[in-house]
Amino acid sequence: MPPASNSNIEKVVIIGSGPAGWTAAIYAARASLAPLVLAGDRLTRERMPGGQLMFTSEIENFPGFVHGVDGQQLMSTLQEQAERFGTRVKTHFVSKIDLSDRPFKIHHIDDFNGDPEIVTETHAVIIATGASANYLDLPSERQFENMGVSACAVCDGALPRFRNQPLVVVGGGDSACEEATYLTKFASRVYLVHRRDTLRASKIMTERTLQNPKILPVWHSVVEQVLGNDTDGVTGVQVKNLQTNQSSTLEARGMFVAIGHTPNTKFLVGQVELNDKGYVVLKNGFRSMTSVEGVFAAGDCADAVYRQAITAAGMGCKAAIDAERWLAENGVH
Ligand code: NAP
Repeated sequence: MPPASNSNIEKVVIIGSGPAGWTAAIYAARASLAPLVLAGDRLTRERMPGGQLMFTSEIENFPGFVHGVDGQQLMSTLQEQAERFGTRVKTHFVSKIDLSDRPFKIHHIDDFNGDPEIVTETHAVIIATGASANYLDLPSERQFENMGVSACAVCDGALPRFRNQPLVVVGGGDSACEEATYLTKFASRVYLVHRRDTLRASKIMTERTLQNPKILPVWHSVVEQVLGNDTDGVTGVQVKNLQTNQSSTLEARGMFVAIGHTPNTKFLVGQVELNDKGYVVLKNGFRSMTSVEGVFAAGDCADAVYRQAITAAGMGCKAAIDAERWLAENGVH
């Protein structure tokens, strides 16, 4: 590793600016590592600084906020906290990374403002690029996002608009079953709309779901359209039965899409080990270290199971501590 005195080389670059990225930045900055955060360039939804929480109106389960907190507010507070200790931030998107040689090279760009690509060299990297919930890609689905359409029951299910109302969950995997079961705490009933008549979910989740009297499976069906208006938000979901080709309307005040997530890790293919779903694989010794020494990962890009803001923040903390120790062990102060 080259000596740390080369001031053109960053000590640690954090890629991503959700709860994992900002928490890593707070810890790294307080450890005097002067981290650089490449936050995303807001060209598309997936490249939005702040990540998925920028599209969540109210977070009620992030500890410390008795009355909940707006997703955008939480992200800007975390950013301010990170900057207070010396974090530098660029609203740039990482287009390419070269981890084959040291120092690592990160190519980043601000396509939103048309700025040219920059290459930054760094001793350590923390990847915190998150994941993107898969959506059905219907225009009406986007129209009613935050007005009844959600991809996270744990985040949004307890909101007043869903209380004692019929709701729809789309999907047939563990996430869909988990979301449907969770929503039965609040909803009057939950329609589980699945394109086949067999759930992909694990046996135990399948049994628990199908035995729940509040969950009504709607088999062999796909969503054609989300129905609603600007005042009430979602009022129904139009589904088509794939066997009969008949359309019908389910009265519902919300639709939760649970058809999987895609980790934002395309730029890492061939650079660090990813699992078959594209999630970054973490090694056991340094618990946030990836297959490449000096490259750490945190948050939803490395977590297919919990996917909560608070777990991402915890992973960000671990990644920064691991990076700090690794840099110290390798003579970078
Ligand atoms: P998943 O297992 O990939 O299931 C996605 C589901 O959505 C499938 O049932 C699929 O239908 C359906 N689907 C996909 N694209 C669709 C589309 N365009 N229109 C309609 N339906 C569509 O995803 P997941 O449920 O998010 O789970 C991901 C991973 O996390 C899994 O390994 C899961 O076991 C794990 N997980 C575990 C837990 C837990 O252990 N508590 C909780 C959540 C997730 P088909 O079945 O027809 O393909």
